[in-house]
Amino acid sequence: MTTAINLLDFDLEGLVAWCGQLGEKRFRATQLFRWIHQKGVSDFAQMSDLAKSLREKLAGVAVVEPLPVVSQHMSADGTIKWLFDVGDGNAVETVFIPETDRGTLCASSQAGCAVGCRFCSTGHQGFSRNLTTGEIMAQLWFAEHFLRKHLQTDERVISNVVMMGMGEPLQNYGALVPALRTMLDDHGYGLSRRRVTVSTSGVVPMMDRLSQDCAVALAVSLHAPNDALRDHLVPLNRKYPLAELMQACQRYLDFAPRDFITFEYCMLDGVNDQPEHARQLIELVRTSGKGAWCKFNLIPFNPFPASGLKRSSNAVVQEFGRLLNEAGIVTTVRKTRGDDIDAACGQLAGDVKDRTRVEQRIVLQRKADTALKATDEGVRGS
Ligand code: SF4
Repeated sequence: MTTAINLLDFDLEGLVAWCGQLGEKRFRATQLFRWIHQKGVSDFAQMSDLAKSLREKLAGVAVVEPLPVVSQHMSADGTIKWLFDVGDGNAVETVFIPETDRGTLCASSQAGCAVGCRFCSTGHQGFSRNLTTGEIMAQLWFAEHFLRKHLQTDERVISNVVMMGMGEPLQNYGALVPALRTMLDDHGYGLSRRRVTVSTSGVVPMMDRLSQDCAVALAVSLHAPNDALRDHLVPLNRKYPLAELMQACQRYLDFAPRDFITFEYCMLDGVNDQPEHARQLIELVRTSGKGAWCKFNLIPFNPFPASGLKRSSNAVVQEFGRLLNEAGIVTTVRKTRGDDIDAACGQLAGDVKDRTRVEQRIVLQRKADTALKATDEGVRGS
């Protein structure tokens, strides 16, 4: 038995090469790519301008395989969170955040994460496995075409993608880059490099590779102004300390589509939110690069029991932001979105106890699907 190839695993060049093995020319692969990504069609029989011979060839050997949806929650503010089943009791989360001038999808790159940041519920779950390119793309593919149907539009709904969901994207580099290329491809989603952001905890060698292979906007999870504190909060810092990370940011800027790096900074009560920390950050920024080369995004922490950490008060967050802004560092405070569906950053993975709940939900969903299929078949058979 041969396993069908999932065409979501290919960027355009990959699909051209694969179609070449079937004796098909580049323009056929491009047509196929457009049907899949621009029109959201997974049934080859519906790809009306593809040669019939190609459609028949594809039907035997390839699929466009979406991820099963375990759950979908819509927040009162329009935020939508999906939980996707990636097999073996693992699930990943994807969040759509609508704003007046854009629609942002926050996508996952791994089931779990090996970095183990202290304030992150995904980090507390541990690492299960890397997602494939197809599994990364399936999140965008599903969300974009679901939203078009839901909003009854043919226009593109998702204008920005941030790889800030579960996982450290740069520790799944091989699968990430073809996914990014598909997002940017004019025959795919046609997103500009400025509107696709990879968020990393600071995997220095891969930051350098990304700058060469597919330089999209870069966000760095900083969370601490000195090595002692960052070693504790973001354990990867022990491997790539701040001085190295700052140098890597400067190198990236030579190729970046934006002229700044965004630093994410999760505000933790009494841990990293004091005026002294702000002063250390200002010093770090000044000594690491020239001019206004970075922006800060302060993130109100979403507490979960296993973290033992608390959210900084609004007043403390505002004061911290004021100190940075006064020093000439553009600083914003992230709005919390989708609080009613646990979709805010840091809760993306659900809380740690949720792992059993995820597994139970997947089992329940499978049972429901089987029951539905049996009913369907019964109806068709009658
Ligand atoms: S913050 Fe990002 S890198 Fe750190 S544990 Fe969470 S998912 Fe992994």
